[in-house]
Parts: sequence; C-alpha cells; structure tokens
Amino acid sequence: MQNLQTYTTDVLVVGGGMAGCFAAIAARENDCDVILVDKGYVSSSGQTPFAGTLLVFDPEKDDRQETINYVRKTGDYVVNVDWLNITMDRSMECYLQMKSYGVPFAKGADGQDRRMKEDGARAVFPDNLKFPQILRKKVLETGATILDRIMVVELIMQDDEVCGVVGITVSDAYPVVIKAKKVILCTGASAFKPPSWPVSNLTGDGDMMAYRVGASITGKEFVDTHGTSSTNPYYMGRNPLKGHMGPPPERPPHGDRPPMGHPPNGDKPPMGHPPHGDRPPHGKPPRPRFTNALGEEVNIAGHLNLGIEFEIHKGNGPMVLPKGGRGPIAGGELVSCASSGMSTHKAEGILPMGLDCSTEIQNLYAAGDSLGTMTTGAAYATIGLAHMGSAVTGKIAGENASQTAKTSAHKQVADDTITTLFDKIYAPLNRAGGFSPRWVINLLQNLTMPYFNLIIKEETRLKSILSQVRYLKTDVVPKIKASDAHELRLALETANMVSNAEIKICASLERCESRGTHFREDYPFRDEQNFSTWISCKQIDGEMQISKHPIPSDWAWQEGEPRFVTFEEV
Ligand SMILES: Cc1cc2nc3c(=O)[nH]c(=O)nc-3n(C[C@H](O)[C@H](O)[C@H](O)COP(=O)(O)OP(=O)(O)OC[C@H]3O[C@@H](n4cnc5c(N)ncnc54)[C@H](O)[C@@H]3O)c2cc1C
Repeated sequence: MQNLQTYTTDVLVVGGGMAGCFAAIAARENDCDVILVDKGYVSSSGQTPFAGTLLVFDPEKDDRQETINYVRKTGDYVVNVDWLNITMDRSMECYLQMKSYGVPFAKGADGQDRRMKEDGARAVFPDNLKFPQILRKKVLETGATILDRIMVVELIMQDDEVCGVVGITVSDAYPVVIKAKKVILCTGASAFKPPSWPVSNLTGDGDMMAYRVGASITGKEFVDTHGTSSTNPYYMGRNPLKGHMGPPPERPPHGDRPPMGHPPNGDKPPMGHPPHGDRPPHGKPPRPRFTNALGEEVNIAGHLNLGIEFEIHKGNGPMVLPKGGRGPIAGGELVSCASSGMSTHKAEGILPMGLDCSTEIQNLYAAGDSLGTMTTGAAYATIGLAHMGSAVTGKIAGENASQTAKTSAHKQVADDTITTLFDKIYAPLNRAGGFSPRWVINLLQNLTMPYFNLIIKEETRLKSILSQVRYLKTDVVPKIKASDAHELRLALETANMVSNAEIKICASLERCESRGTHFREDYPFRDEQNFSTWISCKQIDGEMQISKHPIPSDWAWQEGEPRFVTFEEV
C-alpha cells in the first residue's frame, strides 16, 4: 500500500478533547505507551475549546443529596446516579490536576477561584482560550505521542476483539494503521454539521465505528436544545469563528450595497484604527430576539433546561404545549437546534458496561461525550457537568485501559483484514462517478434539522424521514464519489451521520412518551410504567435491535417528587 503509515502502541486514544487528553495522561502516567490521534488538531478541535465552566463538587461544602435531587429532577428521572456520584467524587481531583498544570481560573473578589453555587450548579471558570493548549503540552510532556489531522475510520477486529484502528491522513488521504492493545474512543458528540454551533467535525464517527462492530448506542432520542429562530435559522448568537455572542452581520438592502470589485483608490478607508468616535460601542452586543406565536418576547436564558417555546407561551412553565401540540407558527419562533443532531451532553453515545468505561466490545473503552453515561439524563441539568464528565470519564478510561494493557499482548492482525478495510474506505475515491458528499449532507440536514422532525416528533413524520434516511443509507451513500482527500473525509463522515440519524429516529420512535428534551406530539405525557428506561440500539446480523434497560427504582421518579418540565393540558 502506497504511503502507508504504521504505528504500534499499548493504548490508543482517539479524539483529543478534554476526555482524550485526560485519558492519554492517565494511561501514560501508568507507564504505558500512548498515542493520541485527532482528525483535527489537539487543543483546537471538538467542543472542548468552547467550554467555559467546570463542575467541581466539594464534599465539605456541598450537599450531595441536594445535588443528586436537582440533577434527577432536571434530567427528568432517567439520570444514572452512579455516574453522577462518580463525576462528583472525582471532580475535585481533576480540577486540582488542571490547576497543577497551570490552567488559569477566573477569580472572585476574595482572590480565590470563583466558584458559582446556585441550584444544582457548583462550577468554576477555566480560561478556555488557554487550557486546551496547556492540556496538549501536558500530554506531550508525559511522553505520549500526538498525531494530528488523522481521521480514524474503522476499528480493526480480530477474533471479536479490537486490536487497533485504520484511518487516513486528512490532507492527503494516505492510509494509516495503528495497532493497539486497548482503544479508547473520545470522539465527542454526534451532529449533522450544523452551521450555527461549533460541532461541525463531530459527526458521530466513534459511535458509528463502535456500532458497526456490535456495540450498543444509547440516548439518541434526547435533543440538545440550543435554539435557532426562524428569522435566523442558522444563527443562535454565537459566531463560530470568533466565539463571541452577538447578532449576525446585517446584510444591507440591495440599493445600499457597494458596487462589485475593488473600490477606486480614493474611496478606500484610511489605514490604521478608525477614530475613536467611529468604533462600535463597547459592551455585549444584543442577543437575537426570540418570540412566540403571540409575538411576545421569550427569554431563552433557560434553553439548556428546555426553555423551548413552540406554539404557546403562557409563562407558567419552562415548556407548555397544548394536547396534540399543534398551533400557529409565526416568525421568530425556534425552528431548529443550533447544535442540530447532537443529543443532551452525556446522554448519547456508546453504552458503558459497568463503571470502568469499558464497552461490550473486548479491548474497547469510551469516554467523554461519546460515552452514554446518562449522567444528566433526559435534559442537560447544570453547567459544568458536561465538561467535568469528560475529564472524569477520560481519566477513568485511561486508568483502566492502561491497567489491563499491561497484562495483555498485541494480537496478530491478518493482512486481509486491513486490505478489506482500506478497500471500503477508498471506494468513494475509486468510483468513476457518483453523488457529491455535500449534496447528500444537504439532503440529510433538510430531513433531520427542522423543528417538526428534530424537536417536536410524531410517528408519521418520524417514519417518513426514517424511510428516506434508510434510502440514503442503502442507495445513496454507497454511490458517493470523492474527488480528493477532503471529499473522502466528507464521504466517510456522511456515512456516519446517516447511520447516526437512523438510530436517532428509531430511538425516538421507540420512546412512546414525552420526557425531558424528547417531545412526542402523539404521546405528550410521561409514561413512568413503560419508559423509566434507557433505550439502546445495536446491530445484529446487519439488523438494528432496540432494547430497553429499566432504571433502578430508587433513581426513577417517585410519587410526589417535583417536576422540572411541565407537560400540561391547556
Ligand atoms: C459553545 C459550547 C459551549 C460549551 N460550554 C460548556 C460549559 O460551559 N460547561 C460544560 O460543562 N460544557 C460545555 N460545553 C460542552 C463541552 O464542551 C463538551 O461536553 C466537552 O468539551 C466534550 O469533551 P470531549 O473530549 O468528550 O469531546 P470533544 O472536545 O468534542 O473532542 C472530541 C474530539 O474527537 C475528535 N474526533 C472526532 N472524530 C474523530 C475521528 N474519526 N478520528 C479522530 N479524531 C476524531 C474531534 O476532532 C475532537 O477533537 C460547551 C460546548 C460548546 C460547543
């Protein structure tokens, strides 16, 4: 094979966000050889560089039961309390670890790290412009190897065990083989390349690699609810390039637009800074306006807790929907999710086996947003929990994978196995003709992103998009043509996004109730009897099998317990 790059390591970490960095450091500190590979650049890719808060639970100052009750209530009583406890228990250690690396945290008036404590939140504020680079540096200092800009595409399986991965270099599509005793997937969340939230390279690659080799995938029916309004469907106030909040640039009316081409020399603005008076005023730019069907302005400050206003806003609950759910849709309402496709942080992902971040697949671990721990259940409960959850699970996965790697040997991989995997990977490049991956992505987005498919769900519509997504999977994706390395990566990501969409729709169809961020127009109320469960999807002999996993009764809703989200008949 031309230009083949081959590596061998004890522990391979795929994805270099918070989870991947913590995993790599933990495994390396346990004296294992470690490679950390990322399809972007470790410290600038994934969601990690955007997170501004970290949950830190202080057992001496905080009330554990109060926090658990708050998260259970907000997560609508499908929270995995074991994972929540683990995250709380190990959060202080991860925070102190970051401090020891020199990560700066925002200070309060007393000169100490500012720690917010309200409702269920106990969060500190790391400087997110600096900490990803500090983590990268620390990973390298431990002696781990970082490989940037390599997209991992498939897990190598031998005798039903993972023994490495194959991938391609992003710039040239050169083949890469990494043999490893243990693989930890830290590939982040799964979205459909939305234009308005910085998750466009998080295309569910890890989830789908694991799914293809028989792992169960959970939590896909719960929606991340950062909204976008119908007046600006692609925008939710965050400029993905600059990372600040503010309205999108106004397009001037036609008559006012400057003529095409370069302005004549005399019209060019003078060099240097504009005089003070001409600069835009300081301070936060205004947030985009969200209104409901009655034209009232709606406060979306609580959007993470499902402050979604669809048809009727009565101001008496975070979410009030008429039975049956239908009503007028007017300009300015939420029409989609900024993070389209992504599920509630820590809900979606590979189903963990036990509490050591192992999965059903031998030698395969997962952590961070690609591990479906259900730490915050059906709705995102409190700030900082997602990011700290990634640090904690990354650390646990690194510790356990390295511990087991010490007592295991590398498996021999048959040449045929590798050749077959690369034949499949390069098929879009070798095809004489076919569909453009961009066109297929557009089709997928048009099917999955509108609010009436993504947020307000109903059986007929779900079945209709399912049949089209399945057609994409069986008849369109296999005919995608890639003209260059960039398109090959897009083609491979598209295949993953389409499979992810299929699972998302099937999980949504299976949950015949409304709970947290999952709303079914045809089942507008909770059904504790049948759906105090987690749902997972698994592929057996090419067919999807859906399972329900009952929640331990003391974690489920008990008669008389408060509700965060109301589904009322009006
Ligand atoms: C704007 C924004 C603000 C946020 N604010 C907060 C906050 O204040 N508090 C909080 O707790 N959480 C916040 N979050 C969520 C939080 O950032 C994430 O939950 C967390 O960073 C996830 O870390 P991770 O390591 O699991 O995944 P990520 O940081 O997403 O890293 C995944 C990595 O995997 C790589 N990858 C993916 N596929 C492949 C592949 N096939 N091959 C190789 N590499 C691959 C990606 O390039 C990426 O670098 C925010 C998210 C966003 C987008």
